[in-house]
Amino acid sequence: MKMLQLARDQVLAQIHTACQQAGRDEQTVQLLAVSKTHPAEILAEMYAAGQRSFGENYLQEALDKIEKLQDLEIEWHFIGHVQRNKTKHLAEKFDWVHGVDRLIIAERLSNQREDNQVPLNICLQVNIDGQDTKDGCQPEEVADLVAQISQLPKLRLRGLMVIPAPNNTAAFADAKALFEAVKMQHAKAEDWDTLSMGMSGDMTEAIAAGSTMVRVGTALFGTRPKKD
Ligand SMILES: *Cc1c(COP(=O)(O)O)cnc(C)c1O
Repeated sequence: MKMLQLARDQVLAQIHTACQQAGRDEQTVQLLAVSKTHPAEILAEMYAAGQRSFGENYLQEALDKIEKLQDLEIEWHFIGHVQRNKTKHLAEKFDWVHGVDRLIIAERLSNQREDNQVPLNICLQVNIDGQDTKDGCQPEEVADLVAQISQLPKLRLRGLMVIPAPNNTAAFADAKALFEAVKMQHAKAEDWDTLSMGMSGDMTEAIAAGSTMVRVGTALFGTRPKKD
């Protein structure tokens, strides 16, 4: 059997087990293959193994792969830091953007999405455990941002994305609580269905806490070359 197929089967088995332990239906957890730093041929091989959604962090690298793999029916997710001057390509080329954390970014994405395209799916990134980072809004800001962003015509606000500090799996429960609190007051609650959390090292804990989308790189593709 091909190596990537084997790796994917193992990750799916891990998701299956985590769902069983948590008493959850495994259909409620989606596997996003995080393919940053890996070449298009590797993605094509993972696609052949059955994978359809891929997550990328670096815009230029992602655009090259989107171009090369345009004949495949891939759902492209941008999971990196969103820079204000790079929103046009994100709006036009991706299906999902996970790292939205300010109104201005959401407004630009909505304005720059083409009229003939379906609305862009987005997640609001929250700095759930008070890390010293510029990425992610504060939990207290979420309610207002949801109210404002959900008015934008070319976006579909699907939920939250979090990246807790390594080993801080307790933060997953906080993210789930916030996710549910927003859902209760959300005018478009039917769109609010995605809690993007969990990576190779902590997907089991994330699923136990209620993740609906795990973003998995290393466990699928192996360790990445150091980038810099
Ligand atoms: C790289 C990355 C991942 C995947 O991490 P692994 O530990 O390789 O599974 C998930 N989410 C984000 C936001 C990332 O940047």
